[in-house]
Amino acid sequence: MATTSTPGWTNWVGNQSFTPARAVAPRDEEEVAAAVREASGRGSAVRVAGAGHSFTPVVQTDGTLLDLSALTGVVATDPVRQRATARAGTRIRDFYEPLWADGLALRNQGDIDTQQIAGAVATGTHGSGIRYTSLSGVVRGLRLVTAAGEVRDIGEDEPDLLHAAQVSVGMLGVVTQLELDVTEAYRLREHVSLRAWDDVLEHWEQLVAEHRHFGMFWLPTEESGSLYNLDGHGERLADQCYVKVYDEVGADVPDDDTVGRRVDRCYRIFPMVYDANFHELEYFVALDRAPEALQAMRELMLASLPDAIYPLEVRTVGPDEAFLSSQQGTPTVVISVSGTPGTDYWAYLRSVDALLAQFDARVHWGKLHFLTPERLHDLYPRAGDFIAIRRELDPQGMFLNDHLRPLFA
Ligand SMILES: Cc1cc2nc3c(=O)[nH]c(=O)nc-3n(C[C@H](O)[C@H](O)[C@H](O)COP(=O)(O)OP(=O)(O)OC[C@H]3O[C@@H](n4cnc5c(N)ncnc54)[C@H](O)[C@@H]3O)c2cc1C
Repeated sequence: MATTSTPGWTNWVGNQSFTPARAVAPRDEEEVAAAVREASGRGSAVRVAGAGHSFTPVVQTDGTLLDLSALTGVVATDPVRQRATARAGTRIRDFYEPLWADGLALRNQGDIDTQQIAGAVATGTHGSGIRYTSLSGVVRGLRLVTAAGEVRDIGEDEPDLLHAAQVSVGMLGVVTQLELDVTEAYRLREHVSLRAWDDVLEHWEQLVAEHRHFGMFWLPTEESGSLYNLDGHGERLADQCYVKVYDEVGADVPDDDTVGRRVDRCYRIFPMVYDANFHELEYFVALDRAPEALQAMRELMLASLPDAIYPLEVRTVGPDEAFLSSQQGTPTVVISVSGTPGTDYWAYLRSVDALLAQFDARVHWGKLHFLTPERLHDLYPRAGDFIAIRRELDPQGMFLNDHLRPLFA
């Protein structure tokens, strides 16, 4: 097993850094189990680094840091049952070709595809579309190295364990392999349009219901446009929205690479290109309160938040059953805002938190948030069940860290 001498770890966006006591890069599941047993013997904490695309200190540890980037690859597909099994360190983009070759594709995905699948699943990573869950919601089984250093298979025959493990932020053990529910390969047509804010809110239900994927950016100032290369075509940006929808098309529709109306394989349409120049907060509000929450956000940003330069990004996600999922038991609207790196954006993000608290907003575990232990149980009715399973699997709390302990010990 490789013990790396790298002194420090920094996440992709550069706002989280730490130095673990030990960094280990196991080559297979046996070496993962050996590393966990070795750490346990020394009373050391263990965390896993995925691709480092979370904004929160969810990887941080002063104990042993595991790097699972050697555990990669789609190991099995089942076109009849529409399932795919992959090792934990497989990047989302590395599912594309093996699945497509067997007539399959991921059901949905988010804005980037560089995350490792276990890292993306651990925080509830999602795309947009009310008929689709997050990536965690399609997990049907996983293999876990527990605190005892034992390998445990979790599947649909143990629903509580599965629902705890689907969104676990690395607290139940080290995931080495996952089985996902996938779908038949499909192609998408993109349609991007500039629509008046009032018009979007008036047709909100129709837009959300009619399209496979509906998302939009609202830009609070004229300056915001240059960040995303968007302009208002002569109208004030703050009165409009950039609406992006994707719908499935048949084999008879030819590919098109025109920006704003592309047609291609699904996995070539979903990913966007980002620079590491934003620090994101993302909250989730029950879908039936979406127009009210969006209107309140716009008013807040226009009236009192001159530092709010990054767009408000709006998406939707369908319900699932994972105990710590933001969609547990309810479809949600996703509301994201970003602070500018190098500025003190905390007052701005705190006022967004205070506003969305009035809408009982849940948080994205991988993005900046202010969730307190007091609010956790009100917002996540199955949090107590998650904590009970976490304590059973890891009584010493070796998979906790300073960020997670106050919420989940
Ligand atoms: C530019 C950008 C765009 C993004 N777009 C979206 C989006 O569209 N939708 C969305 O929902 N999110 C999005 N995110 C957030 C991102 O998807 C999540 O933060 C995700 O968790 C990152 O995956 P990762 O592989 O980088 O994991 P990391 O951030 O490295 O780790 C995340 C968590 O998973 C744990 N973990 C990783 N591997 C394992 C394992 N094998 N076993 C146990 N625990 C493990 C880690 O310990 C940590 O707690 C975006 C982030 C960025 C920077």
